[in-house]
Amino acid sequence: MQTTGYAAYDADTPLAPYSFARRDLRDNDVAIEVLYCGICHTDLHIAKNLWKDWFPTSYPTVPGHEIVGRVVEVGKDVRLHAVNDLVAVGTIIDSCQHCDQCRRNEEQMCRQGPTLTYGGADRIDRSMTYGGFSKHMIVRDNFVLKLPDGLDAARVAPLLCAGITVYSPLRLWNVGPGSRVGVVGIGGLGHLAVRFAAALGASVTVITRSAAKGEEAQALGAESVLISTAPDAMAAAASSFDVIIDTVPVGHDMSPYIDLLDVEGVLVIVGALDTMKGFSSLPLITGRRRITGSPSGGIAETQEMLDFCARKQILPDCEIIEMHEVNDAFDRLEHGDVRYRFVIDMASLAVA
Ligand SMILES: [Zn+2]
Ligand SMILES: [Zn+2]
Repeated sequence: MQTTGYAAYDADTPLAPYSFARRDLRDNDVAIEVLYCGICHTDLHIAKNLWKDWFPTSYPTVPGHEIVGRVVEVGKDVRLHAVNDLVAVGTIIDSCQHCDQCRRNEEQMCRQGPTLTYGGADRIDRSMTYGGFSKHMIVRDNFVLKLPDGLDAARVAPLLCAGITVYSPLRLWNVGPGSRVGVVGIGGLGHLAVRFAAALGASVTVITRSAAKGEEAQALGAESVLISTAPDAMAAAASSFDVIIDTVPVGHDMSPYIDLLDVEGVLVIVGALDTMKGFSSLPLITGRRRITGSPSGGIAETQEMLDFCARKQILPDCEIIEMHEVNDAFDRLEHGDVRYRFVIDMASLAVA
């Protein structure tokens, strides 16, 4: 199948139109017309080869792993999806399916490595995978998610990476009624973490450097705001959180947040793939506190999240843009100038 999209051709020039072939439909494949694609920080990092030391970009690369679309064709063995279904695809599109992690529905941690939605290698023909900044995609059926009724398809896309990245640790650490949850940073990930934790019944505090974020945080469902640059407020909040979701996107000092954890509390790093500043082991030892991280989530859990969002009417705040505006959007994303996520209306691709 011949299709079109937008690709980064190298690290320095803007994304530009790109024509390429999608693989022929296999018996268990679903062909999707992409309707909306979110823009994730990862897209920016990969397009500009900012992770070159450990995940160098192969060009041309077609980014996009927050995808909402409509099924246009199915292979002969596909039972899960039918033509015209509204569907979604996230950060992974295949895995080995038989290792211990795949068998416990944690395909994102497949022992052989999951197949990434873009910049990965197809498990059968080893061709490079291309993401959702494109008109069409071909994806193995059991990595295609169902869009539940009652969700505005134009705003769903960011749930597929930003959403599941914060939903998964909230579920893993049993956040529910009575949980005291802190969310560090209100951006693409943080604003969804606040909405999810509040909808799960937790009491949520936004932890931010900026007092100006107070109203924003409360509008999202936070009960309170803790200003991390106010030493007295931070001291008063010591040992008062069960779970803190840390969405800060760059390396930083975790010590102030560790001090906020109650005994056996958990600090979950989801934003920064980076070197972190040193910290004292004292609060970990004396209070059995934990520091952990979390990648996105498995396919079953991602479907659970979409269904949860439909039930609770949770959607990200999005700015819908046209395909040709993607380079401006990357610039603005780099400067934190979006509330809170860009979504490309892929109908604009034909005229881009
Ligand atoms: Zn992402
Ligand atoms: Zn596996």
